[in-house]
Amino acid sequence: MTMKAKSLLCSHCSGPLSYLALFCNYCRTPLVWDYEPELLPGTPYLSVDFRRDPVPGYETGGLPCVRKGEGALLDCTPNASWSGQMSAQVRNGSVELVATCMDKNGGCGVSARVHSIDKAQCGYALHVRPAYHSFQLERRLWSSEEVQVQVLRAWETNFVVAPVGQVNRIELRFADSILEVFINGRSLARVIDAHLGFGKVGWRVTGYSQPTQVHLHSLALRRVG
Ligand SMILES: [Zn+2]
Repeated sequence: MTMKAKSLLCSHCSGPLSYLALFCNYCRTPLVWDYEPELLPGTPYLSVDFRRDPVPGYETGGLPCVRKGEGALLDCTPNASWSGQMSAQVRNGSVELVATCMDKNGGCGVSARVHSIDKAQCGYALHVRPAYHSFQLERRLWSSEEVQVQVLRAWETNFVVAPVGQVNRIELRFADSILEVFINGRSLARVIDAHLGFGKVGWRVTGYSQPTQVHLHSLALRRVG
């Protein structure tokens, strides 16, 4: 019998399924994918509250940051980015950054499935630039000398992205080969990409043409499904 697959768990044996796979790897039931599985945010797994917790990979790396009101205020020099990750490595999950860009020169976002080999890293990155109400999703490979970027979803404007000076909730849900962008609770993009299998999740901040400040409020890793 062929089974209609509606989630990433086999409804016959409960084993994990690969999206668009022809068979369940565990019980060999043939599958038909007539439905894209929905990625629902599950229970919290790890969280960082920037009002009191150190910014992973930033303060822990010795960079100064000011604790102000609702979080950590990062000073960004132009044409540079900073990023840091939580300790857990996951294949499926949801990572959400709550942050405010203080002027038009700042951007922020999240990363997932970040994997390090010596001084090189790869991972998925979701960037948001509030000044343009826009976001971009990338697969990145970088070292201290070089960055290679594959754009999975090019800069797109959507007024769901809150403007400069307002809080944005930037979330990437990822399960098997499905990546889904949620901003302020709304699904804005869904991409299928099976290149990077697992890794850490984290935050990212970018300074564009002028010095800027980005206020980080919280970072959370949740399960999906
Ligand atoms: Zn099965």
